[in-house]
Amino acid sequence: MRLATPFHSAMLALVLLPLAACQKPAPAVTEITPPATVSETPAMSTHDANSYAEPEKVVVTHLALDLAVNFNKKVLAGTATLDLDWKDKTAAALVLDSRDLNIAGIEGGDGTTWQGLKYELAPRDAILGSKLSIAMPGALAKVRITYSSVPEASGLQWLTPAMTLGKKTPFMFSQSEAIHARSWVPLQDTPGVRFTYEAHITTPKNVMAVMSADNDPKAPRDGDYSFTMPQAIPSYLMAIAAGDLVFRPINERAGVWAEPAMADKAAKEFEDTGKMIDTAEQLYGPYRWGRYDILVLPPSFPFGGMENPRLTFATPTVIVGDKSLVSLIAHELAHSWSGNLVTNSSWKDIWLNEGFTTYVQDRIVESLYGVEASDMEKVIARHGLAEEMKDIKPDDQLLALAPLTGRDPDEALTSVAYIKGQWFLTFLEDRYGRAVFDPFLRKWFDDHAFTSTDSAEFERFLDAELVAKNPGKATAAELHAWLHEPGIPAFASAASSKRFDAVDEARGHWLAGHAAATDLDTAKWTTQEWVHFIEGMPETLSVAQIQSLNDAFHFTGSANGEIAQRWYPLTIRSGDLSARPAIAAFLARIGRRKLIMPTYGELAKTSDGLAFARAVFAKARPGLHPITIVSVEAALADKPPAKP
Ligand SMILES: [Zn+2]
Repeated sequence: MRLATPFHSAMLALVLLPLAACQKPAPAVTEITPPATVSETPAMSTHDANSYAEPEKVVVTHLALDLAVNFNKKVLAGTATLDLDWKDKTAAALVLDSRDLNIAGIEGGDGTTWQGLKYELAPRDAILGSKLSIAMPGALAKVRITYSSVPEASGLQWLTPAMTLGKKTPFMFSQSEAIHARSWVPLQDTPGVRFTYEAHITTPKNVMAVMSADNDPKAPRDGDYSFTMPQAIPSYLMAIAAGDLVFRPINERAGVWAEPAMADKAAKEFEDTGKMIDTAEQLYGPYRWGRYDILVLPPSFPFGGMENPRLTFATPTVIVGDKSLVSLIAHELAHSWSGNLVTNSSWKDIWLNEGFTTYVQDRIVESLYGVEASDMEKVIARHGLAEEMKDIKPDDQLLALAPLTGRDPDEALTSVAYIKGQWFLTFLEDRYGRAVFDPFLRKWFDDHAFTSTDSAEFERFLDAELVAKNPGKATAAELHAWLHEPGIPAFASAASSKRFDAVDEARGHWLAGHAAATDLDTAKWTTQEWVHFIEGMPETLSVAQIQSLNDAFHFTGSANGEIAQRWYPLTIRSGDLSARPAIAAFLARIGRRKLIMPTYGELAKTSDGLAFARAVFAKARPGLHPITIVSVEAALADKPPAKP
């Protein structure tokens, strides 16, 4: 998932001692404790604090969905049939995750004959949803659940035709990560369980449906679609979208799905996707998922992108005409190795997904667009991390987090997983050299392909495959600092960018009054340079300075969300009200959290700004995704210290 900015958005002995299992932190109450006799290979954690599932007793190995997409009612309705692999054949119940599902009935059987099963839907937990316990008269091979979602399902968004580009056809899409799959499919909603799936989806005849599966670019648009997903995936990679979607090829194995008015533009912006796949394959081995297509969503998509396998979901806000934001595609593609192929087994270890992916993304960017592009992205990302870290409590600044018991994984996710994770891998690359580190990383992916894993396993692998084989390059204390201590280690090397040095010089001249804004040499600047230009400004400017910058560069009303998300807060802090109409339009048009939250956050600091923000949000809200609504509501909640 791309949450962060595209550029930036006493275990000491563990790696040395053979009895690493002894060094594991005390398990949470619900965690499965490995037997004391277990060797140096730590058992993979089978319990996930964010799921009711009991994979130690039974795992779902295959899912068959038969669902109708009902735009009028804003629901998905039909059946989910789960194939079960019983580890404990005496288990009396199958426990699944669900949230706000209406269950009509549950049957069990062998696929031919079915019997009704008793079940209990527990009261809804605010974070986890409702535990669904299905009584088992024996170790049945399959259960079939007849159900429907609700219009407010946390993992689905339903757009009226007016909220789309084409204005004629409704649109719906899912966002299952982290724990939203349970709001549209009853399942074991944990990244520790993998299953294959097939689906039969019906829609109105004029609507095209796609999934994180084998989408056929030539599929006739007839309202009746079938999909198979032969690679086993965790639940958060379940994905569906339906709307007025057309396909444009990029090359023989990559393409774009988008609304007709966006399709050509998107295919042009993402035309390097084929080269990105080739680059990643050279570094980390074959792309194992068949096709790689990109679905361009409406602007209300709450994230930058989502790495749904075979079909990345992407925000249209990165289509700015000059490919300056296509690192988003590099990021989502990189997840085909880190995350989708090798998966964090629970959300406490999300740095294994996002830190690795941010590292691989950067290698792709460097290979395609050069070291300067990579340097600029690193500087912006690390600046963003430093800013964000000021508000992150020390326990959450670790890469290897404690279990997220009682916490919403969406709210626990920060740039630490992405940027500190990437920084750690860059540190290892620097110390060991690419000739050693690249094969090490490829081996991590190969050895753990199609499995779910955790930080303890990475530490074991790191010690065995890198540290022990190449002594004297990194100390146990250094590795411990990266993984288990807050902040960024003091010995971490800083990023720098020559092109940003030139931007700093230009900004300095202007701030000192030595040059007018219109005289600055900005002709060749990319998004990254504009971002750096704005980010380096003092906390506030005079209203006259804001206006002179805007007269020269037209930041207010910019279609580039990376510029807008930094410019608007600066105007607000500086007391310039002239941007307010453009801010209102921006917040009404865009639902991507990263782009809009800084502006909401800045507005919420004064009572006048808060009143304005609430009025804007009230209008924007019907077009926003539930995930974004939760974030904005939190930012605009009553807070005592609001300034007058
Ligand atoms: Zn990601």
